[in-house]
Amino acid sequence: MSQTLFERIVAREIPATIVFEDDRIVAFRDINPKAPTHVLIVPRKPIPRLADAQPQDHAMLGHLLLKAAEIARQLGLDATGYRLVINNGPDAGESVPHLHCHLLGGRPMAWPPG
Ligand code: 5GP
Repeated sequence: MSQTLFERIVAREIPATIVFEDDRIVAFRDINPKAPTHVLIVPRKPIPRLADAQPQDHAMLGHLLLKAAEIARQLGLDATGYRLVINNGPDAGESVPHLHCHLLGGRPMAWPPG
């Protein structure tokens, strides 16, 4: 199986601005930001998308969300707020088949999303 784009970023084969990492997740700046702050938080484990997550991924997914809040705090988004997005499948616009959570902030956002 070939590596996903995000596995190659995690392995430092493709450069990215990493803002946080630990043994389970890596967070780096999106190459094409949709907001002043746009970070992608990815599990080291290459789960293609949320729909493919398994019961054994429970702890990692909880960890990812808690770290998303911590990263948002560290990036100064606490007071103004931020949005977390997980695109799952074609209708959602998923383009990289490696589960990732978008952390977006630094501007007001519309609802519902387009
Ligand atoms: P998706 O559309 O799958 O939810 O999100 C994929 C995200 O990955 C997009 O926001 C896109 O800009 C970002 N992306 C694609 N290629 C690269 C890359 O090589 N480096 C980084 N840092 N982000 C990327």
